[in-house]
Amino acid sequence: MQFSTGIRLLRTDRVLGSCPAMTRTPDLIHWHPSSWQSRQAQQQATYPDQAALDSVVSELSRLPPLVVSWEIEALKEQIASAQRGERFLLQGGDCAETFEDCESDKIAKKLKILLQMSLVLVYGLKKPVIRVGRMAGQYAKPRSADTETRDGVTLPSYRGANVNRPGFTAEDRTPDPSLLLRGYERSALTLNFVRSLIDGGFADLHHPEYWDLDFVRHSPLKDSYEKVVHSISESLDFFEAASGQPIHESTTTRFYTSHEALHLLLEQSQTRFIPRSQRWYNLGTHMPWIGMRTAALDGAHVEFFRGISNPMGIKVGPSMSAEWVQGLLATLNPNNEPGRIVLIHRMGAKDIEKRLPPLIQAVRATGSPVLWICDPMHGNTETATSGLKTRRFENIVSELESAFRIHRELGSWLGGVHFELTGEDVTECTGGARGLTDADLARAYKSQVDPRLNHEQALELAMRIAGLHSK
Ligand code: PEP
Ligand code: MN
Repeated sequence: MQFSTGIRLLRTDRVLGSCPAMTRTPDLIHWHPSSWQSRQAQQQATYPDQAALDSVVSELSRLPPLVVSWEIEALKEQIASAQRGERFLLQGGDCAETFEDCESDKIAKKLKILLQMSLVLVYGLKKPVIRVGRMAGQYAKPRSADTETRDGVTLPSYRGANVNRPGFTAEDRTPDPSLLLRGYERSALTLNFVRSLIDGGFADLHHPEYWDLDFVRHSPLKDSYEKVVHSISESLDFFEAASGQPIHESTTTRFYTSHEALHLLLEQSQTRFIPRSQRWYNLGTHMPWIGMRTAALDGAHVEFFRGISNPMGIKVGPSMSAEWVQGLLATLNPNNEPGRIVLIHRMGAKDIEKRLPPLIQAVRATGSPVLWICDPMHGNTETATSGLKTRRFENIVSELESAFRIHRELGSWLGGVHFELTGEDVTECTGGARGLTDADLARAYKSQVDPRLNHEQALELAMRIAGLHSK
């Protein structure tokens, strides 16, 4: 049995159906959904049974898409408007979704906290908020090591529910291609439920469910949150009375999905040519992103992303140089298309002061339109004495405050935030209004990978960004 060494060359494509030899943009003459296979692909699993993998990928490439190109284009337009400072983007969800968590209650709670955060942000920032879940496909994870050792036993690392299982046996950790199908199905189930909830009025401002937060009743955030709710309902009443028309937010509420497009055979299988626009789209999600570990300029992931027409996130960490980020913009957005690029900086509270300003200048020098958003999670991960991975609320707040200030001082617009969060009452990050400590972590630590903000911490962050809650 073989396991991944982290880097390998993959064979040429055998699974895609017909496609045009040349697409509309001349830069893309040599691009194809499988052209990434001639580059080095980091962070890919090595499957023991190649024939089984090929068969799954072939099936996935025939199944209907999860999203459609006009939704993707609508998101791109909204991101273009956020790039001009007219909107704010909220991206959030689990570090890694699991198949077990594909349950109505958990999905509804996650959607609800994202909607409530966005409501607070709309109110405080006085701008429309674009809502993007790390949802319906966030099933593949990059790992810092290919293997994990416990009590002298070494096995491949867990790479997310699409690849293998978290249990620590050789069988659990062997990459299993059938999980890709399960992941596709669960993405479809999640998205179907989210779409139905939104269509059915879950995000309607008049819907009592929208406002009600069980946990807030006993929370130190209660007063601030109730003030927001009260003020919004007063404004609604006023406008409805003045205009004689009910205001229904649900008709205009959109919710978009995103995930790290890490597993390239899966992403390739979801990539389709749309004759109407003569463009390729990854129809597995609205906004895929490139992670920090797979953003090499000459790597397979960048090659894959350069040919798709989706808006795309690019994680920007402390090791990224000015030349690197400029190279990424030149390769991924050679025509300076508005709405296409979202740069997600994740420097860490300690490094942001030094690392971010030169990158803002370097990007500005290219003239390429980007939306800067801040991920204050991934640069602030640490290990508590218990061995559990955690993040301290004060470091997250500190990175966010620095990010807003640095952009403002440089005349740049920080147009969004990216969080790892859940709608549940977990204890994975310390701090926040309830003052969770390291000793609380074990009580409800559920993440298999990175620690998430719980619902209360997530809402507190939204209030702080909106300027509605200070310590
Ligand atoms: C993530 O978003 O879960 C992640 C792995 O981020 P990064 O690539 O920024 O480390
Ligand atoms: Mn993570």
